[in-house]
This record gives sequence, C-alpha cells and structure tokens, in this order.
Amino acid sequence: MARTRALRHLVALVWQAAPLVACGYLGLALLVGLAPVAVAWLTKLAIDELVGDAALGVLLGLAAALAVLGLAVAVLPHWSDYLRANLARAVGLRGLDRLFAAVERFVGLARFEDPTFQDRLRLAQQATGMSPQVVDGGQQIVRGALTVLGFLGSLVVLSPVMTGVVLLAAIPTLIAERSLARQRAGLMWQIGPTERREIFYAQLLGGIEAAKEIRLFGIGGWLRGRMLAERRAANAARRVLDRRNARIQSGLAALAALVAGGGLGWALLAVRSNQLTVGDLSMFVAAVAGVQAGLANVVSQYANVHHHLLLFSHYLEVVTAPPDLPEPASRRDPVALRSGIEFRDVWFRYSDEHPWVLRGVNLRIPRGAALALVGRNGAGKSTLVKLLCRFYDPTAGSITWDGVDIREFSVAELRARIGAVFQDYVQYDLTARENIAVGDLNALDDDARLADAARLAGIHETLENLPRGYDTLLTRMFFSEADKADSTTGVVLSGGQWQRLALARAFLRDRRDLMILDEPSAGLDAEAEHELHTQIVRHRGDQTSVLISHRLAAVRDADLIVVLDEGTVVESGDHATLMSQDGQYARLFGLQAAGYQLEPT
Ligand code: ADP
Ligand code: MG
Repeated sequence: MARTRALRHLVALVWQAAPLVACGYLGLALLVGLAPVAVAWLTKLAIDELVGDAALGVLLGLAAALAVLGLAVAVLPHWSDYLRANLARAVGLRGLDRLFAAVERFVGLARFEDPTFQDRLRLAQQATGMSPQVVDGGQQIVRGALTVLGFLGSLVVLSPVMTGVVLLAAIPTLIAERSLARQRAGLMWQIGPTERREIFYAQLLGGIEAAKEIRLFGIGGWLRGRMLAERRAANAARRVLDRRNARIQSGLAALAALVAGGGLGWALLAVRSNQLTVGDLSMFVAAVAGVQAGLANVVSQYANVHHHLLLFSHYLEVVTAPPDLPEPASRRDPVALRSGIEFRDVWFRYSDEHPWVLRGVNLRIPRGAALALVGRNGAGKSTLVKLLCRFYDPTAGSITWDGVDIREFSVAELRARIGAVFQDYVQYDLTARENIAVGDLNALDDDARLADAARLAGIHETLENLPRGYDTLLTRMFFSEADKADSTTGVVLSGGQWQRLALARAFLRDRRDLMILDEPSAGLDAEAEHELHTQIVRHRGDQTSVLISHRLAAVRDADLIVVLDEGTVVESGDHATLMSQDGQYARLFGLQAAGYQLEPT
C-alpha cells in the first residue's frame, strides 16, 4: 500500500535525521498523555474523601500529588514544543537534502519540462517542510490514545453501557475525517496547475525580467486579471471542500453533545439512587469529556497524518524515481576523442505529442575539425547540440563517439569532455569570478586561469575595472555577507558583456575534447563579433568544435559547413564548395554580404 510505504519511509527519515530528539519527544508524549487521567482519578479520590470523613494527612497527600501533576502538565508541553521544533528542523534539512540530491540525479532535461513533474516537485518540497507534522500527529495520536484508554478504563468501571455508546459515536467521526483528508489531498493535486500559473503571473508582475515590456505594452492589468482568475478558481475549489467540512463537523459535534448530555442525565439519576458516589459523578463527567475530546483529537490527527502521508508520497515518488535516461548495464568512460563523432540516421522529437525536430540526420564531425552548423530558426540546430550532450536520447538512430554509442558512457564523464556556450546560457546572480568559474570550479581561486579565459573572451579589462574587480557581484538581487551594509555593490552588465562572460566560462574548459558554441556572438556588434571569432579560431588550435551562427561571415573559414533545414542535413561542404553549389547557403551568404555592404562605414 502506498500509504504504508510512505509511513515506513517517513519514520526512517525521522529516525535518520534525529533519533534522540524523536525518542525524547515521544517519551514526553507518554507523560503528557497520561497526566489528565491521573488528575481525574486524584480529584475523584479527593472528593470521595471530603464527602466521607476526610483524614487530613490523606487529603494533604492528594493535594500535593495534584500540585505536582499540575506543574508537570503546565511545564512539559513547552519542552515538548521545543523538541518538536528541533525535530522539524532536522527532518526538514535532511528531506531537503535528499530531495535535491534526487533532482540532481536526473541527467536529462525532459522531466524538468514536464508540468506534472513540476507540480510533484513543488508538493514534495512542501512535504519535506511538513513531515514533522506527521510525527507531531503521530505523537498526538499516541498521547490521545493513552488519555482515551485511561478514561475508557475508568468509564467501564462506572458504566459499561455508556462506554459502548461513546465508542460507537466515534465511528462516524473516524469515517468522515478519513474521507475529508483524502479529499483535501486530492484538492491540492487538482489545483496544483492553477497555483503554478498564479505563481508564474505573480513572478512576471513582480520581477525585473518582464518589467520593461509590461510597462511599455501596458499589459499589467491584463496579467493581473489572469493571476486573479487563477486564484479565484483555486478559491472556489477550496470553498466547496470547506463547506463540506463545516457541514460534516457540525453533524459530528451534535452527535457528541447528544451522547454527553444523555450520559450526564443518566449519571445524575444514578447518584440520586445511590448507585454512584459524588466522586464517581465527577469522574464520569471527566471521563466522557476526556474520551470524546481525546477520540476527536485522535481521529482528526489521524486524518492529518493521512493527508500528510499522501503529500509525502509525492516526495517519495521524486526521491525514488527511476533514472530519466536509460543507463547502460556496463557503464564505461569515454576516452579522448581520436577519430570523430557521428550522427547516424538520428530522428528526434521532444515527446510523442511533439512533431519531429530531427528527421534522419547523418553527420560526421572528424576529430580536430571546426564544424559550422547553419540554418533557419527552428531548423533543429540547438536540439542537435543538446543531443550531443545527451540531455535527451535520440528517438531513433544513434550518436557515436569514436564508434561507441554515447548511451554506453557515463553521462557525467561524457559531459566532462565537453565545453559549451548554450544559446540560453545562464546569468548567475553571483560574482564575476563565480560566474566564470562555474565552467570549472577548480579554477575558482586560480586568478591566472580566470583572467586568461576572460582575456580570450574580451571581458578581462571590463571585469578588472569593476568596483571590486572579479569579486564584484553581477546582480542587484542579493548581496554577499560582507556587502550587506553597502547596497551599492552589485553591478548590471549589458547583454553583450554577459555573452562574453559565458564564453569565458567555455574557454575555461578549453582542454576538453569538444567545444560547442551555440550562437555565442548573437548579442555582439559586428566588429566585436569579428574580433571574437578571430579569437575563437586562433585559440581553438586542433580542438574539435561545433559552432552555430546566424552570421555566415563568421563561419566561412570552418572546415565543414553543414546546412540544416527542417531537421535534415541539406547541404554540407566547405565555403567554396557550398558557394559553387549555389544552394541555400550560397543564397543566404549573398543576401548577408549585400546587407553588410549597405551598412554605412
Ligand atoms: P534552432 O536552434 O535551429 O533555431 P531548435 O533546435 O531550438 O532550433 O528547435 C527546433 C524545434 O524544436 C523548434 O520547432 C522548437 O519549437 C522545438 N523545440 C525546441 N526545444 C523544445 C522543447 N524543449 N520542447 C519542445 N519543443 C522544442
Ligand atoms: Mg537555436
């Protein structure tokens, strides 16, 4: 059963996170749970003593015992709270660690593009935050159960019939609460997409990314309307459940009041006919109230635990998900490229619902060659490069590295042999140093290596002249510890400067076997682009490289130019060959050359 499995894993998680705290917490639960029963008994004894002829010593003893118990009841819950908070922190930390370690193990991209997975991940994150509540619920159940058992024992002595009635009345509560918990968990899953969209609109409206366009196009109100519509839809679903909850709880409360009232009537009559003592009456009232309150608590906590276990099962699904890309039985590590990389009749689509992006690509990248990939928007160039890094596997066909299918390699080792600037490279809200060093963290404190890479990318001087040089934050979003007092430290780079930074990152990996540059100069002006390409060519040496560019002037010196169109290779050869073929390349080259000549000099 999914829930039993979730419970088992949760208990294991709690146990691994903080075994001692968990034990202490449960121990306190036992004490706090039994205390009310003891109080009720001592009170009954005291009353019976008073009604009879009370011995002073006995009375004082009872009073002292009651005082000690009262002290414990008053003090213990605070320590129990303290332990619970500690437990929550420990379990939350461990759960977070395990969750994101699991996320890191997904080597491909497809899962991250799947909205269902995104919802699950969000719920899983909530679940790690709330898993202590299950422990708490469990603790309260134990505590409540002890109280209930204690009082039930007392009640049986006084009236077996009344005991049965009270117990029977609890059954509907159990059933109703359980069903409500299931509905609540279902609701969270159901409104997940709605909440995700609301968050998306909120981030658009409040973030910097879209701030320019929202203001210039005046679409703020429109986006806000959409955001509110999502919230309204979620609210409506929640309201339905809340109303059902109120209805059911009212019915259950009425039933409980009826039972308690009936019981009290019976007890009063029993005292009048001397079947019960006055002390028994006090015990009876306390017992019925105690059993009812305890049972209600146990049942609602049970429902809570049930709900959280359902949430926790999302966490489990993420943590125990199978690898997203098939792993080979005997994994081997790729060795330095000797012969070349080859695409053999590669077909690819992002999912079964998507159209084909690559349709039978055949392509050979000889070792040491500079290959240029050109073609219209959407031709599949970036996709081809992503397959090369094994972010996805070809739907059909294969990609080989010196004749070995790349699916047979360890993904991490394969990627360690590749340097890349992706078209959608990331601008990290970190320092300039860190922004370059993410290309190879070994270089984080190696100023010379960082400067070399930055120099090649033509950004060294810019970085050096920043207020704190390489240690300047390239964001205004948050500040490092040392800068908290000074809010002026972060700087904002231009698009072209960021692009050079991304290039520096790739140059840091320059001893890799394959260098991939997906439109590395799209944000640069023509002159900077020319200079940059000269650098790339000069620096490339005999490294194998794949360059994607829209500007054909940048690729004319490549060893091999491949024109991709609608997912297939339509032309390939060097510049002279393609020009003489007079095909797509020659036509585009002619257009661009004419365009450049028109530019004022
Ligand atoms: P290019 O780099 O040549 O401009 P891409 O490889 O980026 O083209 O895209 C090729 C096609 O694949 C396009 O039609 C695009 O819409 C589609 N595509 C790209 N990325 C994804 C994705 N993550 N999910 C679904 N379709 C995608
Ligand atoms: Mg692209």
